[in-house]
Amino acid sequence: MSAPVWANDLGKPRGPEDDGTKPALTRIAGEAIYDSHAFAYLTELSDNVGARVTGSPAGQKAIDWGLAKMKAIGLESVHAEKWSMWKGWTRGTASAEMLAPVHRSLSVDAMGWTGSTPAAGVEADVLYANYFDMDAEIKNIHRFRGKIVMMEPVGMARKSFWMLFAQYGDFLNELQKAGAVAVIGGQGGFAAEGMHLTHTGILGFARDFALPVVDITMEDQRQIERFLVSGKTIRLRINVQNALTSGPVESANVVGEIVGSEHPEEILVVGAHLDSWDLGEGTTDNGTGATCVLAAAEAILRSGQRPRRTIRFVLFTGEEQGLLGSLAYVQQHSDEMKSHLGSVVLDEGQGPVKEIQLGGRDDLIDSMKAFANSLGNLREIGVNDKREFGTDTGPFILAGLPGINLDQDSPDYKYTHHSAADTLEAVKPEVLTQNATVMALTAFWLADRPERFATPWPAERSAKMLREKGEYDMLKALGLWQFGDLGLGGNSDHN
Ligand SMILES: [Zn+2]
Repeated sequence: MSAPVWANDLGKPRGPEDDGTKPALTRIAGEAIYDSHAFAYLTELSDNVGARVTGSPAGQKAIDWGLAKMKAIGLESVHAEKWSMWKGWTRGTASAEMLAPVHRSLSVDAMGWTGSTPAAGVEADVLYANYFDMDAEIKNIHRFRGKIVMMEPVGMARKSFWMLFAQYGDFLNELQKAGAVAVIGGQGGFAAEGMHLTHTGILGFARDFALPVVDITMEDQRQIERFLVSGKTIRLRINVQNALTSGPVESANVVGEIVGSEHPEEILVVGAHLDSWDLGEGTTDNGTGATCVLAAAEAILRSGQRPRRTIRFVLFTGEEQGLLGSLAYVQQHSDEMKSHLGSVVLDEGQGPVKEIQLGGRDDLIDSMKAFANSLGNLREIGVNDKREFGTDTGPFILAGLPGINLDQDSPDYKYTHHSAADTLEAVKPEVLTQNATVMALTAFWLADRPERFATPWPAERSAKMLREKGEYDMLKALGLWQFGDLGLGGNSDHN
């Protein structure tokens, strides 16, 4: 017998205990935990497919693998949605050695979508440039002619992290024009995390650079800094070989569905990016997310429970080059966005899910809490309206929807992130299984609850929220601000 409903409880958000979804969720949890294939899929993706840079042959192999997996687990209308990227890039080799003041080899790796030295490499002195004051460095840019430039954050930053990131791309182009021969500065001069690790990545959303730019291990960077401070002349030999394509290359998002029983036209996206960097196996970034998507889909299918609304599972590509696949998805489905409920994305490494972030939609916090509280036997999971633009939630937030980020407690992610340590060894199967379970339950509840979870906010309201939350500078710097002057308020605004 259910408890009597009092008048003042009627407006209270209902969780699975009260909204009729609990029996289905219980079956799904059983499949997801007891008969999970998540770690088997992650092993295949890591070891058989391996690193999978967007636009490369390995990237295509991953797409084919994703399509085959979605079909094998029984998703409906499985297909690839092609999109194209401005240029492709392939890593070659990168080596460096110090010739003076001491002779030793250094550990470096090229940053993505950066160029090469001449085939024989270059030999040059090192000069540092202040990452925190690129305005001053640009005024004196000609002193870098013929030099290897070492980026260093010196003094106090007078701009935000994202403003500096955006300026860095322009600065690299100025250095190239001025005749610098190579740049050490994958992290903008901040030391690489971990012992003897390098971390690759992009230096601008959808941007490439003719200059060779490398990341260097923390230990090697510290030694060079020590020699710089003591006024010694540092001479290096560096040889970096990469290949940029001359024109666009094709990639594709991988899509499959569980069609809704009552409102098939209403769609919840559940996704993660399939592409990765190439120094490791791309296991924690983001094999974990991609295989949780597959395992979540499989658990729902095997439970025999069909949600009221459609769940569309999407493995995005091009995330690492600037959310390109998810931006393409939102663009290709623009007519359908009004029928979307939101997106659920997992991309924060190898740790357990700790927080459901609603992408600025504070109107949904109470409803989501009613569900999150029901997960207490699995794990305590918080709910807030934080916005994550560092992964595929971003384009959905810009579309006015809850781009829901399942944030994770991943203290070791700073080591595995884009590094050679990103391999299967970094993942605990039981944590992966738990995350896939949380994803399956979240997806099913959102798609099946009696009331539609969310409709998109109008652009004006999203723009206002993003400005109020302080996201404008970052979005502008990344070229993602699409709202013009919207959200500035004005006379008609009485708030
Ligand atoms: Zn990622």
